Amino acid sequence: MANCGRLILFSGPSGVGKDTLLDVLFEKRPLLRHSVSVTTRNKRDSEVEGKDYYFISVEKFNEMLKADEILEYNKYGKHFYGTPKKPIDKWLKEGVDVILKIDVHGFENVKKMYSDKCISIFILPPSLEVLEQRLRMRGTETAEDFIKRMEIAVEELKKCEEYDYRVINDSLEKAAEEILTILDK
Ligand code: ADP
Ligand code: 5GP
Repeated sequence: MANCGRLILFSGPSGVGKDTLLDVLFEKRPLLRHSVSVTTRNKRDSEVEGKDYYFISVEKFNEMLKADEILEYNKYGKHFYGTPKKPIDKWLKEGVDVILKIDVHGFENVKKMYSDKCISIFILPPSLEVLEQRLRMRGTETAEDFIKRMEIAVEELKKCEEYDYRVINDSLEKAAEEILTILDK
């Protein structure tokens, strides 16, 4: 389809640096759009409603599901995360590229729906020890959630080969440059 936008599926374990990288990417490529997900988890102090997520109740999430407003969703840990449908269809029609920060289940689902429009990038940590350090340093999780996120991370890392590209986030600048090169291909 001529002039059709791409869906850039951006995954990686919690704490690997996805949000930090996205801030760099959106600054360098202002035309890129960010699909802002809805989530039922609590907002972190550093997060902004409508920029990082729409923070909603489980009741609202269920209403949106019922009204077919969610393209895909998953339960990660104890909370639901979903991609609102409307903006995606609009941006694809307008021919703009959209970044979706989603977990590996979301990646599998969106790829099934839009296989010809997807580019998938998996962000890897230099090592599991570094990942653990970053997640700990960020200081946003309870001890219980921290352990759960590390367990999920080990499972997610096994799926990295399913993605079109893998980028190691060791030096932030280098990782951002690598992603920009992929997007400019
Ligand atoms: P994610 O969005 O993948 O959960 P974040 O972007 O919140 O991860 O990053 C987790 C922590 O790691 C943050 O404190 C961030 O500042 C730090 N971080 C991200 N990228 C790097 C990097 N390349 N080197 C060192 N620290 C990093
Ligand atoms: P966090 O709580 O760290 O912001 O996100 C937890 C996980 O949920 C991350 O792997 C993130 O990519 C994923 N995630 C965020 N939004 C969505 C979404 O809309 N759909 C899916 N499937 N996963 C999401």
